[in-house]
Amino acid sequence: MIRQYELVEKIKSYDPDADEDMINRAYVFAMKAHGAQKRASGDPYFSHPVEVAYKLTQFKLDTASIVTALLHDVVEDTEVSLDDIEASFGREIRGLVDGVTKLSRLEGKSENLKQAENFRKLLIAMSEDLRVLLVKLADRLHNMETLGHIKSPEKRQRIARETVEIYAALAERIGMRHVKEELQELAFKELYPEARESIIKRLDYLREQGAAELEKTKAIIEEKLHEAGLANAQIIGREKKPFSIWKKMEGKNTSFEQLTDIVAFRIVVGDIAECYQALGAIHAQWHTIPGRFKDYISTPKSNGYQSLHTAILGPGQQRIEIQIRTEAMDEIAEYGLAAHWAYKQSGHPLKDGKQFRWIRELLEILDKSSNPEEFLENTKLEMYQDQVFCFTPKGDILAFPRGATPVDFAYGVHSGVGDTCVGAKINGRIVPLRTKLKNGDQVEIITSKTQTPSPTWERFVVTGKARSEIRKYVRTQQRTEYIALGRAILTKTFKQENEDFSEKMIEPHLPHFGKKEVDDLLADVGEGLLSRQQVTDVVIGQKKPQNNSGVGSVISNFTNPFRKKKSAAGAPMPIKGLIPGMALYFAGCCHPIPGDRIVGIVTTGKGVTIHTMECETLENYADAPERWIDVAWERDHMEGGHIARLRAHVSHEPAALATVTNVIAKENGNISNLKIINRSTDFFEILLDIEVRDLRHLGNIIAGLRSKEVVQNVERYQT
Ligand code: MN
Repeated sequence: MIRQYELVEKIKSYDPDADEDMINRAYVFAMKAHGAQKRASGDPYFSHPVEVAYKLTQFKLDTASIVTALLHDVVEDTEVSLDDIEASFGREIRGLVDGVTKLSRLEGKSENLKQAENFRKLLIAMSEDLRVLLVKLADRLHNMETLGHIKSPEKRQRIARETVEIYAALAERIGMRHVKEELQELAFKELYPEARESIIKRLDYLREQGAAELEKTKAIIEEKLHEAGLANAQIIGREKKPFSIWKKMEGKNTSFEQLTDIVAFRIVVGDIAECYQALGAIHAQWHTIPGRFKDYISTPKSNGYQSLHTAILGPGQQRIEIQIRTEAMDEIAEYGLAAHWAYKQSGHPLKDGKQFRWIRELLEILDKSSNPEEFLENTKLEMYQDQVFCFTPKGDILAFPRGATPVDFAYGVHSGVGDTCVGAKINGRIVPLRTKLKNGDQVEIITSKTQTPSPTWERFVVTGKARSEIRKYVRTQQRTEYIALGRAILTKTFKQENEDFSEKMIEPHLPHFGKKEVDDLLADVGEGLLSRQQVTDVVIGQKKPQNNSGVGSVISNFTNPFRKKKSAAGAPMPIKGLIPGMALYFAGCCHPIPGDRIVGIVTTGKGVTIHTMECETLENYADAPERWIDVAWERDHMEGGHIARLRAHVSHEPAALATVTNVIAKENGNISNLKIINRSTDFFEILLDIEVRDLRHLGNIIAGLRSKEVVQNVERYQT
């Protein structure tokens, strides 16, 4: 195991200003926290974070990254909390350790590799700080190096697949070719040991056969470069890795026998001018292979990679790939943004203060890029910041715009799920439907066959799909209601005229109203766009004075202001799960009654307010989960009153209100308030506060009201 002083010395070798004291403290802190824990290999667990920290010294990372590496597993695997970390190491380290811990919790969740791209985006979106990703990659690298100690072959294979699909691809995206190749090779060894063996054998054979040829080629290139005045150019023959050969064979369907160009040459020179000079010297000497020249110096790749690429028919007419770049570019090619970042830290070529947000670094590269494809790639990266990635219970990942809610999620799964959505659980906890989803949330939608979309959802959904589905539903729903209402109004009016209403009577008059269908006319009557008088005038042709005697004066008696709250003080506690001694209130916005699904919100110094799960007010508490308490009704049926609020459309005719109040009285409901909120010539809209025992009692009252002809519709009213 690497000793404390070795680690410190290594860091000091590239960063003399490193905070030695903090590194030492982190070393001891992690050692104590992991205590006697063991790895699968039998080594002390603590050896793992030390190895990860040591790997990061390869990228010349700063004190904070090294300290984070030492502490990266303590929150997940020991008693230590993030607060403890902050107390000992400050906010920056807390943030970094928190970031790595969050990424670690996603391990093994990428089962469904069809979704690898979304998963990678999720990891990037969650990292925010490049250093979090670097620590995670070093962590995975060490875990892959010690993979053989894991007993279960299935588990080893799963980890290896995840490594290729997710972590190696991530390393590539941020330009860390070195890490990418190491991860790929380690995973390849686990996944296809036989294929790897045969490729290595073939490589050995080709190496033996071509060794002399290779040296000759290298010498000739060197000579030509020296002639061109590039005395310091380094030429490195670089063998391709078994995994990349395997990938190439898969893609191009070539066989081992056809495999010849296994070596690429890299020429490293002093500055950019020399890069083009070297290119000129080589192109002047040998034939180039068309289509293979790429200038990534003037147009860097989105991950920061810069180099000239070309391919020639070299001495002996064999194909040779050549990369030409400066030393700094070479370092970036190996270590990508990590190198980029190390330069910034040391105040070397790119000195503009301590900006760690890696996304900004990418945007910087974007500034330099003029290729539209590169631009697009970068824009996509930036877009991850505007997206959230969430899991279904099966582990699939869905992407949504930031601000999306469980309702968006439900419609994202299937419009049928959205239409019947009644509630949601995020990471196992029930939350209001308007909660904003966060990266990595696991979302479970609770559905009920009897549920229908609520128009209020439209106020908080953010996806176009959810919005249009809700609108579509509400539109057809409203129309159905208006048609029924119109039919009821006309039936009654015709009866008063001693006529039996039928659609046949209406049909001949449709052109008069500019309608095609009877339903269109009925809908207009229901909506109040057309009065019954206008219809009867045309259809029956008689004009009788309308009869709406005195309804207005009756109404005015009921327009009292509403009471805001109903406390259950004095009554026995009807709610389970309360904190003893806390005052209990029932919310005036949603009027919960026994049988409703409910939640408690704690108000300091005041008590607990009970809301229904559907209540919109809950949105105000979405950011304060500590105030939510899980509560339930003591019994489904209860003595004593709870206020429920109903909204009804009632025909505008004599005794209509009397009918309503009679029904409620007959069902033993007590009206505590009544308010008329809307009036048209044909019906009026009322709000009723009724004292009921529970949901079933209320259900009986609603059923009783619906059975009356004067009541066009009635429903629970909750805002
Ligand atoms: Mn670890």
